Amino acid sequence: MPTIGKLRLADSLQGVPFITSRELKVLQASSLETVEDVLMRVPRRYEDRRSTKPITALINGETVSLMVHVYSAGWRFSYKRYFEVSAGAEGDPYGARIYLRWFNMPYVAKLLAMGMNLSVYGKVKEYAGKLTISNPDFEILEDEDVGHRLVAVAMGGVAESVKESADADLIHTARIVPIYRGISGMTTRSFRALVWRLLQELSPDTPQPGYDVAPAYPFREALQDIHFPASPEASHKARMRFALAECFRQQFTVAWKRRRTQGRAGQITATNDGYLKELLASLPFQLTQAQARCVAEIRADMERPQQMNRLLQGDVGSGKTLVALCAMLLAVESGKTAAMIAPTQILAEQHYNNFRRLLKNMDVRLSLRTSERADDSDIIPETAGYGDASPRIIVGTHALLYKKNRPINLGLAVIDEQHKFGVAQREKFINTGDNPDVLVMTATPIPRTLTLTLYGDLDVSIIDELPSNRGEIITALRTPAQMTKIITFMRSELDGGRQIYIVSPLIEESETRQQAAAITELEKWRGVFPDVNIGLLHGRLSAEEKDAVMAEFRSANTKILIATTVVEVGVDVPNATIMMINDADAFGLSQLHQLRGRIGRGQYKSYCILLTSAKQGEPGRDKLEVLCRTLNGFEIAEEDFRLRGPGDVLGTAQSGLAAVRFAEWLSDIRLIHRANRDAAAILDADPELLHPRHAPLRELIQFEEEQGIVG
Ligand code: ADP
Ligand code: MG
Repeated sequence: MPTIGKLRLADSLQGVPFITSRELKVLQASSLETVEDVLMRVPRRYEDRRSTKPITALINGETVSLMVHVYSAGWRFSYKRYFEVSAGAEGDPYGARIYLRWFNMPYVAKLLAMGMNLSVYGKVKEYAGKLTISNPDFEILEDEDVGHRLVAVAMGGVAESVKESADADLIHTARIVPIYRGISGMTTRSFRALVWRLLQELSPDTPQPGYDVAPAYPFREALQDIHFPASPEASHKARMRFALAECFRQQFTVAWKRRRTQGRAGQITATNDGYLKELLASLPFQLTQAQARCVAEIRADMERPQQMNRLLQGDVGSGKTLVALCAMLLAVESGKTAAMIAPTQILAEQHYNNFRRLLKNMDVRLSLRTSERADDSDIIPETAGYGDASPRIIVGTHALLYKKNRPINLGLAVIDEQHKFGVAQREKFINTGDNPDVLVMTATPIPRTLTLTLYGDLDVSIIDELPSNRGEIITALRTPAQMTKIITFMRSELDGGRQIYIVSPLIEESETRQQAAAITELEKWRGVFPDVNIGLLHGRLSAEEKDAVMAEFRSANTKILIATTVVEVGVDVPNATIMMINDADAFGLSQLHQLRGRIGRGQYKSYCILLTSAKQGEPGRDKLEVLCRTLNGFEIAEEDFRLRGPGDVLGTAQSGLAAVRFAEWLSDIRLIHRANRDAAAILDADPELLHPRHAPLRELIQFEEEQGIVG
């Protein structure tokens, strides 16, 4: 049983004497088993409660921490039901008031009562001359730590001065207070108290688990600073240290993988370019400069006997598919098969049909392999001899991963929309034993720093230019009040033979209600355009039903497509010229940009209408204005990352980001560069990681290999 100051990170919480069995259960239910699990659960943010403001000094719109006394509390009814507390400085019943309001949080009513003292944190808003805070974070101050402080508040003083006179350990107040992500069954307050206690009892010489990236700043000290910082600078410094450890881990894995794959024996998959020239000569347009550069970069890789590992990054509509086709033709002419895997049936078929059209006068074999269509030889006339080694281009879905569909004689593996595939699937596709050249494609533009973070093990080709034949896209913000005008405009585009997307965000939580909302929307538009065929795409449909709906739209049998966000990335209907997005502010910028990429794909001028009720100057509206300003996906990505952080933008499924607690820091180029340099230096000096100091790194690699992340 651990004694004071002897606790170790690896100790089980079970043996810790001051954790009750009820607490233990709650912690374990949240997968917190060891001291390390708890202490590595770092604060989501902090509240600076060192100084508080008197209510009379509050400014509309500012976020503040307050210490207040509850003068009355009860339910209120206006357009919504909410619980309201009227609060002010203690001992000043006739002084200035602030109204704290909780919406949809009935349990708050059970916690709060007249006469309590609260520590409150939130954004002040003025409504009808009243200062209010909606859904503030709050803590009920325990009696014993209230006495001193409220005197200071009443005088508008700084609580710092109170601290000296107060008892030693103020954990929850009068300091910079950590706020943690919720643990069900435990209040932030008791979790904070637990962290405090564990830190007290932690052995003073506790080292960093794994490889220590910054030995000059002891880990034990950084733990204290990240949970209970004495100043904002201290928490910043500690977070940097933790983030560096994480960046390092990620960059080290990438550097290791890169060294393993770089120079790995492969095949020569490009020799002559007869097919390539034939294709280019048959196109009604020229490759953009960026496309031509990317083709040249890929070709140079393919001409070498080493394995290619290249990322082709380009905005929606920049023409990645054509670049990939060029590469596949090179492979076929060199006597190898080239296979492209796409995340959905719709996309695979679309590529297949495009290729069929583009290659129709060429002597190149082409096959389609999807789970639904693989055995249906009517739909795939060119499947004859699929299982032999004669070089061909194969397009398919996950079906390509199954044994009977595995490409034979594979020279080039292309992965479209790579982020839609799991690491294991990608590996399976590539690992045919032939070490094929690999080209992965993504339409998610990300800031360059993140390219290095996420794809550091790949060479990167970027298409940073759109074909010039594109119809212009005009993006405009509109309010629901302008609907009559919008409808008139839609009518004129429909009369001109064009098609329309109408997209709504998923607001309803249950699928059934989503479906109901989608159907209501459909009925509404049927009423507006009774003479027009309208299609409906929503999450409740099966894959076949979705395909059918898309096929109807592509063939222009339906003129308007109502959709929840399931309009697939990569869907190409050049005749669609209007995309109207309902409640556009509910989407992230990158998502809106992807959606907008569905229009402007033909020669027609196109229009993206962002419908929003957000007013000028509100954040939702400012965000949307970015889209009106630019069509550049990289610029939009930068802005999106700035607003939401990479974790939210990319989603945790994105390779390598899943375990990152400090995603906020990943956009800090200096950290990434430093981690990158450190990793390279270690591998230069000790490529096999034989030095005892590098044992934790050997373990890291071993662990990640087991997880299938590197290898
Ligand atoms: P991405 O996959 O990058 O979103 P696509 O490859 O689907 O883009 O290309 C979109 C459309 O642009 C396709 O219809 C394609 O034939 C066409 N296209 C590709 N390259 C060019 C070019 N250089 N000039 C004109 N049109 C092009
Ligand atoms: Mg594409």
